[in-house]
This record gives sequence, C-alpha cells and structure tokens, in this order.
Amino acid sequence: MAVDTMEQIVSLCKRKGFIFQSSEIYGGLNGCWDYGPLGVELKRNVQDAWWRAMTVEEDDIEGLDASILMHPRVWEASGHVAEFTDPLVDCTHCKARFRDDQIEKEGQCPSCGMKGTLTAPRKFNLMLKTFIGPVEEAASVVYLRPETCQGIYVDYQNIMTAMRRRIPFGIAQIGKAFRNEINPRYFVFRSREFEQMEMQYFVKPGTDMEVFNTWRDKRLRYYAELGIRSEKLRLVPHEKLAHYASAAVDIEYEFPFGWGEIEGIHNRTDFDLRRHSEFSGKDLSFFDDQTRERYIPFIIEASSGVNRTLLAYLCDAYEVEQLENDTRTVLHLHPRLAPIKAGILPLVKRDGMPEKAHEIERQLNPYFRVFYDESGAVGRRYRRMDEVGTPFCITVDSQTMQDDTVTLRHRDTMRQDRYPVAGLVQVLGEKITSWQRP
Ligand code: ATP
Repeated sequence: MAVDTMEQIVSLCKRKGFIFQSSEIYGGLNGCWDYGPLGVELKRNVQDAWWRAMTVEEDDIEGLDASILMHPRVWEASGHVAEFTDPLVDCTHCKARFRDDQIEKEGQCPSCGMKGTLTAPRKFNLMLKTFIGPVEEAASVVYLRPETCQGIYVDYQNIMTAMRRRIPFGIAQIGKAFRNEINPRYFVFRSREFEQMEMQYFVKPGTDMEVFNTWRDKRLRYYAELGIRSEKLRLVPHEKLAHYASAAVDIEYEFPFGWGEIEGIHNRTDFDLRRHSEFSGKDLSFFDDQTRERYIPFIIEASSGVNRTLLAYLCDAYEVEQLENDTRTVLHLHPRLAPIKAGILPLVKRDGMPEKAHEIERQLNPYFRVFYDESGAVGRRYRRMDEVGTPFCITVDSQTMQDDTVTLRHRDTMRQDRYPVAGLVQVLGEKITSWQRP
C-alpha cells in the first residue's frame, strides 16, 4: 500500500508537470530531477514560505546568497575533506553499491540477494569535485558545496558589520548543494543535486541550549502551520553526534516509505568559527562593548532541504478520496504552497462567459497565480484542479451575467458559495491565510 502510494505520487508528478527525471530521453541521470511548470511554482512557494518565516517574521535574521564554489581551504576547515564520507560497500557479484547502513541482512546483497559477495566497507567522500581555471591539476580543484552553511560562516563578520548587528543574530540562505550520494533514492528525498534552506543563529556561549530548544520548537510548529498533520511529524534526538555538534535533533516526517529526516537542528558550538579563524588566520571572535567580553559565538542551525520538505508536503497532501459513486485524487496543499491559487472556469464557451472569466483572470492576476480553463465538462475541470492542489475554483455561470456574482468552489470540501466579483481579491486573500486542514 505504502509503496503504491509513492508510485502514485511519482506518477502524478510526471503526468501533471511537477517533477521529471533529469535527461529522461537519454535514460536519465541518477539522483537528478527537473521541476516542471507546476513543480517550479510549488518549489518557489516552499522557499518563499521559509524565507518569509526567517527574514520577514523574525526581526534579527539577515539574508544571504553566497556562491556555490568556495575557496578549497573552506572544506578543510569545515572537516569535509577528512570527514564527509559514507561507508561504501560493493557487491562483487552484481556490482551494485550501497551505503553500509542500507544493508538490511548482514552479508547479503540487497540487490541480487547473494550471500558472501559484499566487500568490507570503505570510506567514500561525498563531495563532488571540479576544476577552476583552464588547467586540470590538483592545485585548481574546487568542490561543489555539499552544504550551504559554510558560505554563511565565512561571511558572518561582513554581514554583522554591514548590517550593524550584534550577537545574537541570524543569517538565512537558500541555495543548491551537491552530494555524490552512493544510493540516491526515494524520488527527490535523496538526490545528488538538491537545495537547502539553512538558518544559522549566532549566540553567546552559555545561552546556546536555550536558543537550540526555542528553534527546535519553532521549526516543528512551522511544518504544522503549513498543513502537515502533526501525527506525521516527530522529533528524533541524535544519539551519535557529528564532530561539530553538542546537541542535535532531527525533524522527521513519515513518508510512505517510512520515517525520514526533513530538517536538522544542531548546536554547532564554536566549532565552525574557531576552525575558520584557525585556517584563514582572521580573528572571527566578537567583542561585546557593553560587557567588555570577547568570545567566539556558538551557532545554532536549522537546516532543511527544499526538495525533501516539498516531497513531505506532497505526500501529506495526497489523497485518493472515495466519493459516493466515484473517487477523486486531491492534493490538500496549504493554499500558500499550492502552485495555482484559483482556477477560473466559464461554465460554457458562449453567452459572454469566456470574456467575463478572462476579465476576472485579469482582475486577480496581479495578486495570485490563477489558471483559466474552458475545456471539457466543469466537473472534469474541477477534478483536474483538485489533482494539482488548486484550493479554489471560480465559476462564471448564467447568474454571473445577471448579478456579477460567481461560484467559489473549495477543493477540500467541494462546497460552493457565491461571492460578488468585485470582492474576489479580498475573499481569496483571506481564505488563503486562514486555511485549516480539513
Ligand atoms: P541524511 O542522513 O538523510 O543523508 P543528513 O543528516 O546528511 O541527511 P544534513 O546534512 O543535516 O542531512 O542536511 C540538512 C538537510 O538537507 C536534510 O534534512 C535534508 O532535508 C537535506 N538533504 C541532505 N541531503 C540531501 C539529499 N541527498 N537530497 C535531498 N535533500 C538532502
């Protein structure tokens, strides 16, 4: 059942223009995905919701967009050159490769089922390398960043000075990251090219655990506010901590294939700034001129993936609903995330209805992404909008032509109400912000 659900979601994503396999006509490139017309809208909405929560709704977080390629010493300082490895196991029989923790039965290949054909695990660095400049030699190796946060650490002093900030304050960034994952899988959950949304909050040592707890709770609430059912979310503290962390907790979502991390909250201590101070020779400490104290700030990070959270929103929204004589596929996406906010449908293609519907389209266009559709029976058009998560449909019918009111149909309940055309912008705006999952 669960695996079926995943297959149905993957198939819907392709059919409806959300997500395609990269380079599909060439047989695809493992771990890389393309976001089609509706996928790119959904992805932008996922990013915008996060950006808003971080930089607009918080008054002490600044934004940044750092470059993907960075000085190679960054990755020595961060520990990635030495430590960013996964244990790689090969099957000598079928040549499949696994991460050691993906082997479910000891000594047995999960792919061909043979026993005794697996090699001992060896360390495999997940960073993707390339060369900068015309000469492909060791001195010109650079890495595609495996996480976005290092750009934040190396720019933290610039930002603090330019924006006249003091500790505590935060920096938020959204951007691409690359990992040469041994086994990309579960659709966009684990890919080789992906996007992260990372917020790093700089604090005085000693206040770090309080700030860590605040962000853990805030971030969990965030997903519930964007419509994810709370029973599908859980916090999982790490038992084994990474080399840079003193506390870590994952926010996990229950995907059809099982629980998986969508975001990590970490107390990174002063590890990052201390290491970058050492490796760059620049003093990255902070002097508090009020208390006359000097210290290296601790960092609390909230690190999430655009693609993974997008998959969680999709999985959580997906429902095949049994109706009286029928079934319908519907995405109960939060209207803020929905790629299209309203479908605009003339009941029939005559009597001035298409013209009126286009007029409404022009009225709403500056505020919301809407979609005009006149083809096929109106019931079929509603179903098409349900399937891509459009929360509202506005139908122009013969009554519209008399009294300038329209039918507003709600995706989740299929309820229909009438509203004057003149107030539609406000009505939609209110319904989008006050939406509650049914
Ligand atoms: P995992 O254990 O699943 O490999 P991780 O613990 O290495 O993940 P982090 O380094 O904490 O992940 O990255 C923060 C976030 O970035 C994750 O919560 C996830 O949302 C996202 N992310 C990490 N790796 C990938 C990937 N290969 N594909 C898509 N998203 C990813």
